[in-house]
Amino acid sequence: MIDNLELLTFLKSHSRFIITSHVNPDPDAIGSEIAIAGILKQLGKEFYIINTSITPYNIEFLDSENIIEYFSEDKHSKLFDECDAAIILDLNHLNRTVRMEKLFRKFDGDIACVDHHTNPEYFSENNFIDESKSSTGEIIFDFIESTNELSFNEKIAVAIYSAIMTDTGSFRFSKTTSDLHRKVAILLEYNLSSEEIYDKIYSQFEFSRIKLLGESLHTISITESGKISYMIVTQESMIHSEGIESDVDGFVNFALTTKGVEIGILFFELEDGIKISFRSKEDIPVNKLAAEFGGGGHINASGTRLFDTKLEDIVSKVLISADKLISIHKKK
Ligand code: 5GP
Ligand code: MN
Repeated sequence: MIDNLELLTFLKSHSRFIITSHVNPDPDAIGSEIAIAGILKQLGKEFYIINTSITPYNIEFLDSENIIEYFSEDKHSKLFDECDAAIILDLNHLNRTVRMEKLFRKFDGDIACVDHHTNPEYFSENNFIDESKSSTGEIIFDFIESTNELSFNEKIAVAIYSAIMTDTGSFRFSKTTSDLHRKVAILLEYNLSSEEIYDKIYSQFEFSRIKLLGESLHTISITESGKISYMIVTQESMIHSEGIESDVDGFVNFALTTKGVEIGILFFELEDGIKISFRSKEDIPVNKLAAEFGGGGHINASGTRLFDTKLEDIVSKVLISADKLISIHKKK
C-alpha cells in the first residue's frame, strides 16, 4: 500500500499518464477520472483518459471538455508504448477494463491502482486502496486535502461530489459518516448545485429506460424462502424497448424493496454473455456470492460478468448459491 506522499511522488515522477476505469462506468468511475485529470493538470502533466465503454449519457456532463476517449486497439496501442504511467481507478481486478486488459498486462510503465473495493488482485505495485471509504472519489478527496500542493476547483468538486453521492446511494449507505458529510460540505463551497447534479444523473433518462424497467419489473420473482428476489433483463426486451446497457443501472435495487427479502439479484442478458448484479441487506456478504462466479465487489453490492453462458443455465445455479449463503450466514 502506498501513502499520500508516495502517490504524490508517483504523479510527480512520471510525465505521460493513461487514466482508466471499469467497464460500464458509473459516476464514481468517471468522476474519479475527471478529478485525477484535474490533479495532473495542476502538476503540469500530460494525460489521456481512455475507457473500454462509452460514457453513459447521463454523466457526460462530468466530462464537460469531452476529453474521455473510447478505447480502440488500433488507435491507442501506440499510446500505451508512449506513456510512462497509468492510473487505474475504481476497480481492483484488471479484467474489469475488458478490452484494454491485454495492453495493461504488458504495459512497460508504472501503474497505480486507486480504489475502494475488497479482495484486490494487486495487479500493480502502487496500491492506493482504502476499503473503508465510500467511493474512489472520497479517496481522491482525502488525497487532495492531504497535500498543500493540490487544490479543489469547481470541476473537481462536481466530479468528486457526483462520485460520493452515487456510491453512497445518495448519502444513505453505512459509509455515510459525519466525516463524509464534512468533506461534502467542503465540496459544496465550490458553487455546485446538489439539486442539479442529482437531476442530471437520475432524472433525465431517455424514455427507453422506463419502458425497459416496466418490462423488467414484470419478471421479478421471489424464491420459496421469501429471502431472495430476482429480476431478468433479456436481450429481447432490450431490443424491444431500444434500451442501452447503462439503462439497466439501478434496476437491481427494485429486487431488494420487498419485505423479508435479503438478497436481490439481477440477471442481465448481454449480446455476448450475462451480467449479474447482487445486492443485500445488513451484513450478508454478496461479494462472496459474486466471487463464486468470478466477480467481486462490496459486502452489499457486487457483480460479475460471464461470457459463453446462457440465462437458462446460470439462474438456478446462482439461486442455489444465494440460498446457501443465507443459511450459512444465519448459523453464525
Ligand atoms: P453493479 O451491479 O452496479 O454493476 O456493480 C456493483 C458492484 O459490483 C461494483 O461496484 C463492483 O464493485 C462490483 N462488480 C460488478 N461487476 C463486477 C465484475 O464483473 N467483476 C468484479 N470483480 N466486480 C464487479
Ligand atoms: Mn466506486
